[in-house]
Amino acid sequence: MTVEQLQKMITEAKKENDVCILAHSYQTRAICEVADIVGDSFRLSVEAQKVKNRKIVMCGVHFMAETAKLLSPDKTVVIASDEAGCPMAEQFTPEQVLEFRKAHPDYAVVSYINTTAALKCVTDVCVTSSSAVEIVGRLENNNILFIPDKNLGAFVKSAYPEKNIVCWDGGCPVHGKMTAQDVLRIKQKYPEAKFLVHPECPPEVCENADYIGSTAGIIAYARKSDAQQFIIGTEISITEQLSCEMPEKQFFNLSKRLICSDMKITTLVDVYNAVCGTGGMEITFDADTAAKARHCIDEMIRLGG
Ligand code: SF4
Repeated sequence: MTVEQLQKMITEAKKENDVCILAHSYQTRAICEVADIVGDSFRLSVEAQKVKNRKIVMCGVHFMAETAKLLSPDKTVVIASDEAGCPMAEQFTPEQVLEFRKAHPDYAVVSYINTTAALKCVTDVCVTSSSAVEIVGRLENNNILFIPDKNLGAFVKSAYPEKNIVCWDGGCPVHGKMTAQDVLRIKQKYPEAKFLVHPECPPEVCENADYIGSTAGIIAYARKSDAQQFIIGTEISITEQLSCEMPEKQFFNLSKRLICSDMKITTLVDVYNAVCGTGGMEITFDADTAAKARHCIDEMIRLGG
């Protein structure tokens, strides 16, 4: 069977089973082509609320399917591959946060949306990479614990030197391994290129950037810019996506090592089985977890506008 034949079977099965497929931008091109919506994690969850289908198949990692379920509790939400987890989302436990809260009752706990539902239950407000600076700026409390990504936390901290922002030693194992050497090497090769980078990269990488922002922000910058060459400092799928969308411009990876193996676990066969109801894993929550975890997402929406 060819990739095209399998994609056709998925498209037909979607209609038969009343399914909407959501794919994170880091998924393979073949999966993005059969998806109804492609985007970053928060956009997918927000769009999921608007779709009419009774079932959502999430092609991404576990916390994304959880967030979609929290925002669309009446829909059936299935993650296409139950093995697809984000190592950063699971770096800390709710018990560690509760212990911190007990010792520091005057701190607000801010979590990147890339966290488990269990961690969201002990969080005051969630943020995305595109909203983190804005939301932290709107918090009245100047004492903040920011988890789990210390690099995104450092980026936020640089915007508010007057705030006391504590970051734990967590982060994305993919973006976090980029170095200043990687930047030097690629900039020497393409000295005219604009350097666009995700804030999950370390500060010594971000400090050389022309733009620091979320996946959606990087794509928007490249669309608007008159520049012809860009170095992309985030997962390598975005470089491919941008090259297909703007063939007149040139896009280069900061490094080929910027590849998320968890995002690449899901296959077209997984998607087909999840759509047909013979594979994947349904996400469910008890009422208490659903209410507590949803609270910090509602706060993010309220503070983010
Ligand atoms: S790129 Fe990093 S943060 Fe994103 S899913 Fe992979 S490990 Fe998690």
